[in-house]
Amino acid sequence: MTAKPVAVVVGGGISGALSAKALADRGFHVRLFEKYPHPSTVFSPTDISYNISLGPRGQDALRKLGVSKIKKGVFTKYIARHVKQSVKVLQRARPDLSVASHNLAFSILRNAEDAGVEMNFEHTLKDVDFDNKVAEFSKIYNESMKVKYDLLVAADGSKSTVRQKLVEDSSIELKVHVVEDAMEYQCVILPHWRDIICHQVLYTTKLKSVPPETVHTWADKASNFLCLSSPFGDKTLMTMICPVGTLDGLKKKENFGLFLSILLEDVTEQARAEISRQLARGTPSTGSTCVWPSSIGFPAHQVLLMGDAAHGMFSSLGQSCNAALESVLCLANATDACEESVGTKKYIEQIVSIYVDLRKDDAIAAVDLTYNGFGGTNNRIIVHGS
Ligand SMILES: Cc1cc2nc3c(=O)[nH]c(=O)nc-3n(C[C@H](O)[C@H](O)[C@H](O)COP(=O)(O)OP(=O)(O)OC[C@H]3O[C@@H](n4cnc5c(N)ncnc54)[C@H](O)[C@@H]3O)c2cc1C
Repeated sequence: MTAKPVAVVVGGGISGALSAKALADRGFHVRLFEKYPHPSTVFSPTDISYNISLGPRGQDALRKLGVSKIKKGVFTKYIARHVKQSVKVLQRARPDLSVASHNLAFSILRNAEDAGVEMNFEHTLKDVDFDNKVAEFSKIYNESMKVKYDLLVAADGSKSTVRQKLVEDSSIELKVHVVEDAMEYQCVILPHWRDIICHQVLYTTKLKSVPPETVHTWADKASNFLCLSSPFGDKTLMTMICPVGTLDGLKKKENFGLFLSILLEDVTEQARAEISRQLARGTPSTGSTCVWPSSIGFPAHQVLLMGDAAHGMFSSLGQSCNAALESVLCLANATDACEESVGTKKYIEQIVSIYVDLRKDDAIAAVDLTYNGFGGTNNRIIVHGS
């Protein structure tokens, strides 16, 4: 019997974890390397997390790849827009799965572990020798570690190191255009929204009460400030999204409380004080990145780009995680299509080349679509490319 092909997955985020599971389920020996510790060891979820809303496409990919139970995931039914002067709009929404990003990654990682994936946390990719198919990782206080692969999956996010190494390699044709969103975000955890929204709610529907599975939004157009409150188990995960520098600027001002009281006029004073306290304790993270690579896979080198590394998108339209999960489904379908060549020299090359055919055009079209999302094109910073 021939030995199992070795897939090295760089990145233990959502797309890395799901790729690892899909490949392990299809006969690969999978070694996953993630630079941070396992998400279950992180003390405060707001240090690393934000809310993800998964639409039917992302949910479908998870289901088809055998991931069913998502920790603290809630299916949302309504969106409530809180507008000043107490006019509120409650709209029926499609049943998206609302989940904190670290809980989604945690749930998929657990499935990958069950599928037999070898997990290596706190390992950072440093270099790749594409000719000899060797990836080099470093671990704090340890010698660096060289790992041979048959397939390298770069799921290391929109600022992918693997992608950068591909660009730098003169024997590989890859150009990448990157645009950063000049938005930032910061999250706080609050009691359930039923306990923090105080005024009589005047929703423009005939419903007598607001269902628990509701996402609430507050927006201030003048400062481009959006506040999203999503169900988070029996609590609320509130995400503030605004142009870079806004939050730190506001936090320094004495009238930050006043700003919050105008924006969140129907939120209790106690909850607003808690929001200020949590915001002051943490720091905002910068938003997301649009990535347009000239290719998402390199058959001869047996390397492919996955998720945000392949097609980073602005987070405002809530599409990139859905697209990332769909890309993993394409990888699984490409692997299934090559079943007859398992064990032959062409097996991995064929998988990469079918993956590119199945995915490239749709993924890049989705990046184009999100480019004009929340914040407007005036808030974009071109990093490189033209
Ligand atoms: C505020 C915000 C809200 C969002 N909301 C939505 C939403 O509602 N719906 C939606 O579809 N999408 C949303 N997204 C986007 C979604 O989070 C991403 O598309 C998704 O996380 C991409 O997953 P990924 O695994 O490809 O990349 P990532 O989640 O970035 O994971 C990459 C992983 O690689 C690791 N890594 C990086 N470099 C190295 C290295 N050198 N060595 C080893 N490991 C490395 C990182 O630590 C990380 O764990 C949102 C994003 C943000 C920022």
